[in-house]
Amino acid sequence: MGLADIAKLAGLLGPKVLAGGDIAGACAKFAEKKNREHARAFAAVPFAERIVFVPQCMRATGRCRAEEKGAEYICTRCGGCSVAPIARRAMELGYMGLKILKGGSAVARHVEKMKPRAVLGLACQYEGALGIFECERLGVAVQFVPLLRDGCADTDVELEKVFAVLELTAPAPAGKDRKARAKPRG
Ligand code: SF4
Repeated sequence: MGLADIAKLAGLLGPKVLAGGDIAGACAKFAEKKNREHARAFAAVPFAERIVFVPQCMRATGRCRAEEKGAEYICTRCGGCSVAPIARRAMELGYMGLKILKGGSAVARHVEKMKPRAVLGLACQYEGALGIFECERLGVAVQFVPLLRDGCADTDVELEKVFAVLELTAPAPAGKDRKARAKPRG
């Protein structure tokens, strides 16, 4: 984590937390609060305007078949880690893409380039808090699912949790429902 990131975290969590408190716990609370605040907006965005960001530390060390292209890895869905089923489900639903990020700073770059209206991010608690900060700064609805354990390699995530967020949709407006039901069949 660089100085700029520490300054951002201090702004988000308060300098007292950084001075010796439970930083991961504070980041987790911050993310839970933001998930609640953004859930409705995220669910209202069509799948085609949503993107998924996953961290490179989820890749299977020594087995990953992802192609490295400049600043990113392209998952070839070799099945070595949980990125494959997440990418498959996102594509089935019609998401605009899944990006394996080499670092948290890539969030803003991809959002500015691809212009999603909603982001589902997977990361450790620190990177998650910073990613949420970037999404809010750029006016994008965001949902965050934390990794099961922090680390620089072979990390993982709870797939059921990720799928549940991927599939979040807003209920149809009541008027539309009524019209659909009233429509004669045949
Ligand atoms: S599923 Fe994708 S990211 Fe995971 S190890 Fe295979 S190629 Fe790499």
